[in-house]
Amino acid sequence: MREKQQPLKFAVTSKGDATSNSLMQKIKNYLIDFGLIYDEDGPDIVISVGGDGTLLYAFHRYCRRLDKTAFVGVHTGHLGFYADWVPEEIEKLVIAIAKTPYQIVEYPLLEVIIRYVSGGKEARYLALNECTVKSVSGTLVMDVEIKGELFETFRGDGLCVSTPSGSTAYNKALGGAILHPSLEAIQVAEMASINNRVFRTIGSPLILPAHHTCMLKPVNQVDFHVSVDHLSLLHKDVKSIQFRVADEKIRFARFRPFPFWKRVRDSFIAD
Ligand code: NAP
Repeated sequence: MREKQQPLKFAVTSKGDATSNSLMQKIKNYLIDFGLIYDEDGPDIVISVGGDGTLLYAFHRYCRRLDKTAFVGVHTGHLGFYADWVPEEIEKLVIAIAKTPYQIVEYPLLEVIIRYVSGGKEARYLALNECTVKSVSGTLVMDVEIKGELFETFRGDGLCVSTPSGSTAYNKALGGAILHPSLEAIQVAEMASINNRVFRTIGSPLILPAHHTCMLKPVNQVDFHVSVDHLSLLHKDVKSIQFRVADEKIRFARFRPFPFWKRVRDSFIAD
């Protein structure tokens, strides 16, 4: 629960289309009228207006202050997993932000560490949805280690390692399971693995607990396309890519119950 002494500092991010921008302005004006302080650099709460993609951008913008910032998402398109408020509810939402102490719900994140053959500084990323690894040309060939032991040599289009809340995104399209975000786990899903009399992979998505690390080690090439949520980068001279449940978590401000399985049903099965 938030202490009420200090005025709350907030920021609003928008998808950038006319509808989201005008809603962003409305939310900003309402909250300033309620005495809250607009602070783009150090907000206590970030209201993301657009869709799940917009919340991914907001997460990466504020990912260095996750312990101090809570997120809430308004969708101007279809129902999202991170953006679950509709524009018609914004008066209700701003009053709730301004007047009531809110509950915080935390979701696990994925930590990605890329180390280089040259021994230069390793790169560390946090993903809210997932990290994917693909080859720059031809088949991706990687040794997959789990908890320091060789598990398999993967050959195929790529690998996707997702968080529980990201399990409904790219991971789902790859046939991965949907994980409840209260589970501290990561999921490794294959993209079109080669399986025949010579080459073997497990073929099923793997779900690893928080104390298990997954490490990918290149077999024949060292340059890879690595995506972290919406960001995609070419990494050259790669020695290993390590995945585990991050110590950090994303914090969502909750003003009403909206159970995860109801969001799954409303998004994929019923309106
Ligand atoms: P985008 O290609 O513009 O949008 C990807 C779609 O994924 C959007 O409809 C987005 O919802 C939805 N999405 C994002 N996070 C989700 C989640 N946790 N659960 C369910 N759906 C989710 O790309 P973007 O907006 O920059 O988002 C990047 C994400 O796209 C990646 O993290 C990856 O998960 C996803 N992606 C999916 C596939 C696939 O399914 N085959 C392929 C590549 C990337 P909104 O419309 O509400 O923003």
